[in-house]
Amino acid sequence: MTDYVISRHPVASAAVAGSEARFPVRRIFCVGRNYAAHAREMGKDPNRDAPFFFTKPADALVDNHQTVAYPKETENFHFEAELVVAIGKDGSNIPEEKSLDHIWGYAVGNDFTRRDLQLEAREKGRPWDWGKAFDQSAVCAAIHPVEEVGHPDKGSIKLTVNGDVKQDADLAELIWSVPEIISILSHSMDLKAGDLIYTGTPAGVGPLVPGDVCVVSIEGLGELTTTISERL
Ligand code: MN
Repeated sequence: MTDYVISRHPVASAAVAGSEARFPVRRIFCVGRNYAAHAREMGKDPNRDAPFFFTKPADALVDNHQTVAYPKETENFHFEAELVVAIGKDGSNIPEEKSLDHIWGYAVGNDFTRRDLQLEAREKGRPWDWGKAFDQSAVCAAIHPVEEVGHPDKGSIKLTVNGDVKQDADLAELIWSVPEIISILSHSMDLKAGDLIYTGTPAGVGPLVPGDVCVVSIEGLGELTTTISERL
C-alpha cells in the first residue's frame, strides 16, 4: 500500500440507477457545439469540421436533486442539457463500429457554464476552463446501464426552468453521433473505464438565477433536477 503525505481525497463518482453501488469517475470530457441550432446561437457555423473537446475535473460532479449555489465570479450562469455517456472499458484508436462496446451506460446531464467567462476566454484566445470547469459544474443523474436502456440515439431531450421549457430537441439531431465521438476522442486520448463524455447541448441555452429549479429530461433516462441557491 502506498503511503500519502496528506489524507487521500475521495473517489469522485456518479449514482447508478437501481443500485446502491456508484460509478467511479476518472475524467469528464465534453463535446463543444454538437447541435446545429446551438452552434448558430453561439455565433458559429454548424459544420462537420472535426468536433472539439474540453474537460471538467471529476470532482465537479453534482448528483440529482442537489442544490447548487450560484457560482463565484459570474453574472451569466447558464444551463446546458446533455446526454452523458459513461465509459466502462478502456480503449485507444477505437473504430466507430466498436465504439458501443466501450459504453457502460447513459445518464441525463447538465453542463453548467459561466457563459461570461467562457466568451471572454474565447475572445481572448484563452483556455475555457474558468467558464466550464468550475466547482459543481458537472451535474449528472443516475447512470442507466446499457443492458437496461440499450443505446439511445433518438428521443426527446428537454430542459425546463421553473416549469418553462427552454430546450426541446431530439438526440437524433446530434451533429456527431455517440459512436463517432468515442472513436474520434479515442484517436486523441486513451479512453479509460470511468471516463464520462458530455455530448453537447441543443439550442436554447440561457441563464439561471438563485431560486430557479432546473429540470433536464431525456426519453428513457428519466429526469435530473437541480435547485440554484444564493451565491456563497
Ligand atoms: Mn456543453
